Amino acid sequence: MSVDGSVWLDALGAMRDAPAAVRAMFASDGAVEPLPEPLPREWLAIHEEHGQTFDDFARTAVRPHAGARTIYIQPVDTADALSDTCLATIAAFAGAFFQMDVRVRPLLVLDSSSLVTRLAPDAGTPQVYAGDILARLYADKPADAFCVLGITARDLFPHPIVSFAFGEASTTCRVGVVSVARYGPPFCEDASGRHPGEMRKRCCRVIAHEIGHMAGIAHCIYFRCLMNGSSSLAESDRRPLHLCPVDLRKLQWLTGFDFTERYRRLREFWHAAGEAPEADWIAGRLQVAGGMRVNPDP
Ligand SMILES: [Zn+2]
Ligand SMILES: [Zn+2]
Repeated sequence: MSVDGSVWLDALGAMRDAPAAVRAMFASDGAVEPLPEPLPREWLAIHEEHGQTFDDFARTAVRPHAGARTIYIQPVDTADALSDTCLATIAAFAGAFFQMDVRVRPLLVLDSSSLVTRLAPDAGTPQVYAGDILARLYADKPADAFCVLGITARDLFPHPIVSFAFGEASTTCRVGVVSVARYGPPFCEDASGRHPGEMRKRCCRVIAHEIGHMAGIAHCIYFRCLMNGSSSLAESDRRPLHLCPVDLRKLQWLTGFDFTERYRRLREFWHAAGEAPEADWIAGRLQVAGGMRVNPDP
């Protein structure tokens, strides 16, 4: 399924009541790519998605109140898969992306006997029911949490008839969990050996996607977007690391962030990570947001 220009303009919603900075930001095309027709077995070929307009979102989304503006990252049974440095990098990205405080909680080790487990139907490797982890995260959710996102090395399944999930989240309870199990062997070659930044980009992509769901943003059908659904690692890797204009407007409405400050921090993050294409894309957006002079180095 693809959408024409008038559909996404409708999805962006009327701008007449929006703040001046928002109107200015969305006056240009957003430098985004259209979403092509899905290939067989890609997400939109096998899932019926109707899209969520800005107006749909604003009718139902709940803005974080002053006492609950912290995103908690909760490592769950990460074993040796994620170092403290890696978790700090993920937290720095989430802070820049969502413009909210982010804290990493101490490692949570779960007793397998308390979890529903099975062997993955596609790979025969151990899996955990994601709902069990969500229930545990919700039971321990801090009072000042906007949301709690678990990150685990265990492979997840969200439903008995689904082979696996990269992540699962509850918008109502604002808890979620993502898995890094399929970012390396035996599901794919060792990402760190192929490209040192590949694991980092995958982690950043999946955590922003699931936190986006917890913020109330549904799957995107309008552009190539971080909020596109994905049914394979290859399809997941094709998603950009940023939001399309429709979903960016939702996030800005939710948290009220300053575009210039957000893009400045994201540009610094990707520059420090050595990801020049993403840093350059962000720099272009920063110019639109602030009309400011952009130096080659942050
Ligand atoms: Zn999703
Ligand atoms: Zn989008």
